[in-house]
Amino acid sequence: MVGHHGGRLLDKLVLATVFMACSVGALAELQRLEHPAKADGSLSFLVVGDWGRKGDYNQSHVAFQMGIVAEKLDIDFVVSTGDNFYDDGLTGENDPAFEESFTKIYTSPSLQKQWYNVLGNHDYRGDVLAQLSPALTKRDSRWLCLRSFILDSGHVEFFFVDTSPFVEKYFTEPKDHVYDWRGVLPRKAYVSNLLKEVNLALRHSTAKWKIVVGHHTIKSAGHHGDTEEVKEQLLPILEANGVDLYINGHDHCLEHMTSDDSPIQFLTSGGGSKAWRGDVSWSNPKDIKFFYDGQGFMSAQVTEDKIDIAFYDIFGNLLHKSEVTKASSSVF
Ligand SMILES: [Zn+2]
Repeated sequence: MVGHHGGRLLDKLVLATVFMACSVGALAELQRLEHPAKADGSLSFLVVGDWGRKGDYNQSHVAFQMGIVAEKLDIDFVVSTGDNFYDDGLTGENDPAFEESFTKIYTSPSLQKQWYNVLGNHDYRGDVLAQLSPALTKRDSRWLCLRSFILDSGHVEFFFVDTSPFVEKYFTEPKDHVYDWRGVLPRKAYVSNLLKEVNLALRHSTAKWKIVVGHHTIKSAGHHGDTEEVKEQLLPILEANGVDLYINGHDHCLEHMTSDDSPIQFLTSGGGSKAWRGDVSWSNPKDIKFFYDGQGFMSAQVTEDKIDIAFYDIFGNLLHKSEVTKASSSVF
């Protein structure tokens, strides 16, 4: 626990720099945080997405099983793939939904670790700045949500990417939703700068493993399917820079996709609460290594030689596991 608190303090120091960097606007470099791996160089974490429903739709059951797996794997932190608060994000820094959907749900001692969150499209329908605010970290010290950032964990480097601004229909056909695009407009400049920064950061990375996390799908057999804008604009950058895993939420399911065209493993962990059963379609079934249209979460254990990934349902059953090595992944 001492190491854990030390790590958090370090994060906060780095974060102070980060908020200053933010004030220069959309052209700021990606923010860089550190979360040291364990003494033996290994790192483990859980991934959950699409969760904040005040415990409903089995959110509490998923949370309970996350606690058991987190303890077994001695996790270092939790990654959230976004859509943190349904249906419309948070109303402000004092919205009680923060406690009702987060603090009072993920209560296991083993989950009292740092959470690294990205924003989903539903989060942009509330007060988006509230989720990014240090005020939430004051209410629950586990909380950290930034738009796009880098997390350096020794052998592995994470690149968190804010994918909602890529999706054109949120801007052109918002229907009756009101999105809070403060900090994003003008959209084209925001997205092109983000792509440039992600490309640069990936190119300069010397980490053995490169993991990119975003809310939206790139390859998915679920309800939403591929997110065309992210596939067209972000995927080529990931492929050119030897990214090993792309991890997302948005589709309310658990899945592991591969592709003949790409060395990247595509992992969806969007089963944090409500799931859409039976909603699956994909033109090339051999790309689907695993698909589960129910609730659950994912774990990953990273060492220098391999990444072990696993998916679990709400009973804690192991549904699928896979070992990623450099031979089966990228050849960089
Ligand atoms: Zn979403």
